[in-house]
Amino acid sequence: MSAPAPVARARILIAEDESGIADTLCYVLRADGYEPVWCATAGEALAQFGARPPALAILDVGLPDMNGFELFRRLHELPGAEAVPMLFLTARSDEIDRVVGLELGADDYVAKPFSPRELVARVRTILRRSARADAAVPVPASAPAPASAPAAPPVFQVDGERRRIRYYGRALELSRYEYRLLALLVQRPGRVYTREELLDMVWDDHAQSLDRTVDAHVKTLRAKLKAVAPGVEAIRTLRGVGYALHEDLPPASARAPS
Ligand code: CA
Repeated sequence: MSAPAPVARARILIAEDESGIADTLCYVLRADGYEPVWCATAGEALAQFGARPPALAILDVGLPDMNGFELFRRLHELPGAEAVPMLFLTARSDEIDRVVGLELGADDYVAKPFSPRELVARVRTILRRSARADAAVPVPASAPAPASAPAAPPVFQVDGERRRIRYYGRALELSRYEYRLLALLVQRPGRVYTREELLDMVWDDHAQSLDRTVDAHVKTLRAKLKAVAPGVEAIRTLRGVGYALHEDLPPASARAPS
């Protein structure tokens, strides 16, 4: 069968110590038009990533020199990492819990044993979705400022090209899904989104995700917003319904960016 080839041969970094799994992954990715780069250790993956960030990274949780979570953290200390979707390969349900609980903000996970074809489909979806998100994120969305402060800068400034959001003038360090989630909420302050809607609109493969995925991301997002503006509750919880951006945030002029 011939799969539609992606526009460019996107490099996919694979950190996996089992050569049998790595071989299969490389084979199916290559057959689909990608350029797999296999690293058998976390150290090698860090070196490869540092030399040239890939389009996407697949990280096995059980690596010989460092676990996949630690590798994920270390990769995020490297330049350009926030633009690279990362997908975990996990073998145990407690690992899955950790990925889904996602203090980490990884993009997705695949449980072993997995179907190589399904994994490639997941890779394709993530890359296609992120290309679309890069191209079509709304430009400066803002929460409305009250009439008394017409010249106040917007509370939120979304830079779709750089996938950055500023909050009260401060750039937020967001994971990919935190970014997408916040960019969506900021578009329509006050609009209430159910968890199902958020999973559908923000996550690549919502059939694989869970409601608690949304809750976990909202929690980390809130912590990041609180760090900038401690007294402001930007994201409202509507118990039993979902989440919304607060419609009436204090204007930026009322808060000096520190
Ligand atoms: Ca392993």
